[in-house]
Amino acid sequence: MARFDRDVVVIGGGHAGCEAAAAAARMGLRAVLVTLRLDGIGVMSCNPAIGGLGKGHLVREVDALDGLIGRVADAAGIQFRLLNRSKGPAVQGPRLQADRRAYRAAMQAALAAVPGLEVLEGEVVDLMVSGRRVCGVRLADGNEIAAHAVILTAGTFLNGVMHVGQERTAGGRVGDRAVTRLAARLADLGLGRGRLKTGTPPRLDGRTIAWDRLEMQPGDAAPVMLSFLNKAPGLAQLSCGLTETNAATHEIVRDNLDRSAMYSGGIEGVGPRYCPSIEDKVVRFADKTRHQVFLEPEGIADHTVYPNGISTSLPAEVQEAYVRTIKGLESAVILQPGYAIEYDYFDPRGLTRDLEVASLPGLWLAGQINGTTGYEEAAAQGLVAGLAAAAAVSGLEPFRFGRTDSYIGVLVDDLVARGVTEPYRMFTSRAEYRLQLRADNADQRLTGRGIDFGCVGAERARAFEPKARALADAREALEALAFSPADVAALGLKAGRDGRRRSALEWLGLLDAPDGRVAVMAGLPGLDAEVLAQVHRDATYARFSGREADGIRSLAAAMEGDVALGPELESVPGLSKELAGKLSRIRPRTISEAAAIEGMTPAALMRLLAASAPGGRSR
Ligand code: FAD
Repeated sequence: MARFDRDVVVIGGGHAGCEAAAAAARMGLRAVLVTLRLDGIGVMSCNPAIGGLGKGHLVREVDALDGLIGRVADAAGIQFRLLNRSKGPAVQGPRLQADRRAYRAAMQAALAAVPGLEVLEGEVVDLMVSGRRVCGVRLADGNEIAAHAVILTAGTFLNGVMHVGQERTAGGRVGDRAVTRLAARLADLGLGRGRLKTGTPPRLDGRTIAWDRLEMQPGDAAPVMLSFLNKAPGLAQLSCGLTETNAATHEIVRDNLDRSAMYSGGIEGVGPRYCPSIEDKVVRFADKTRHQVFLEPEGIADHTVYPNGISTSLPAEVQEAYVRTIKGLESAVILQPGYAIEYDYFDPRGLTRDLEVASLPGLWLAGQINGTTGYEEAAAQGLVAGLAAAAAVSGLEPFRFGRTDSYIGVLVDDLVARGVTEPYRMFTSRAEYRLQLRADNADQRLTGRGIDFGCVGAERARAFEPKARALADAREALEALAFSPADVAALGLKAGRDGRRRSALEWLGLLDAPDGRVAVMAGLPGLDAEVLAQVHRDATYARFSGREADGIRSLAAAMEGDVALGPELESVPGLSKELAGKLSRIRPRTISEAAAIEGMTPAALMRLLAASAPGGRSR
């Protein structure tokens, strides 16, 4: 038995653990990441995709602070799509599909390249505790690692149980064992614990799919990268197939509901409402006769296909039967059946804003064990915990994320203040300040602060500083002089008729697209197209952010005074069907009662408030 000393120990090599360990090491600490299998580092347990709405924002923010997920994903990207491209940048989410093997290899290479970070294969079975403070870990082989900070990121592994129909197997995910000794120790330490579940679809053999009968969806012609450091994909780009379920699929699912682990009472944990299984879809949306299925290739040299949209815990033979009712999949062979997994999580209300366990200092929790779901949510928490642990060990003021500066701040605030009753995932609607918290400006919001804090490396600082200067210079020049509508009309642009003189920046913000003629008018011929595009986005949103801030202020005042709400809130326009249903059942009388409803968003609260104001809505 040996005893080692480190500054920080990270337990788990998943999406949270990799970011936590890399962040602590970037801060100059001696960090060690201990994980069950070295070759399991960077495994994507479910779909081979990173980013999307809300999630893409989180990735950009982690990237802005020099985290790994964006760069690693770009290196493995085989299809890039900017979701909501036709809508405004505030709700656009960069997303990519990754080559699963390439992602794993890129993450392992990225960790190996972080100075001061050691990676160790092993199972942590115990925490060393002195007084009420965690001071290290014990491994299954008897070795001990003493450390000033321990970050636990065990994902779905603690007391993990996998379900396929009525078959139950202990496991952390397919191919991996469950973690029980550490789970028992954590139970003894008295942390508030619960059970959650999530599921994954069967994987198909792409060689048995009739691709020629399916509509294909290519990636974007001009791919948008996840990392601010990258310009273009490194791998060949692939298309996805599009298909859908039908009445025959639904009938098979319905007829076998009593054999589904989720529906026959075999699972006590609560599942993600926002990522429903095919069983959930058939029951909850009984009026729908079809559901879309995206057939996503899992890699370039890999025949495996991930059918996004049909996750399940039905028996394997039922999965095969329903899959084969779907167009293009009539002869599809299942390589690995879908399954559900249930696991322990800890009530995040027991954590500080830095994700440290309040009752057990020295221990930080990040990722799925805090009740979230998703790689991006896990990575974001890993970054928070890694930076916070590094600050605590180094005696620095912590790097704090707030709701006004980042989606990471929204995530942490939601978790520690409100807790979870189902797996939590990020949406743009969760952010009050979403016009300001855009994926395109994550570097402007965070990288400068990261450089000052010490978590941003030289390569990113070298890329960021000239960009920040160019943006600042362009803004200053565009704001320097005022131009009349006639000046603008003379350029052939639509100028409005209010006669008001405005700066070139304001004029730019009124245009639908960036236009170099405005820059020329302000004396900036040859302004870089990317700088112009970014300044245009900022100027466009500057027009609305005043209104956004007003809305947020009124909401805060209404919460303070617990303002009464009107009747028939479910008919307020713009609410999701789900929230409307809850409002009609729960019938909140005041704004704070409405705010307490699971899934309620700041945006929806503002709508309720506006509709309840005198003259706010015609009934
Ligand atoms: P994980 O990626 O699970 O990593 C945990 C790591 O901890 C592993 O490396 C493990 O080896 C290690 N570990 C655990 N205990 C120990 C120990 N005692 N000692 C050493 N190492 C340890 N997300 C979605 O967004 N949508 C979905 O639809 C979805 N479906 C899913 C379906 C399934 C079946 C599973 C398993 C996961 C699904 N996920 C889904 C979740 C997604 O995989 C997770 O959100 C994400 O991987 C969580 O990252 P993490 O770092 O918290 O944990």
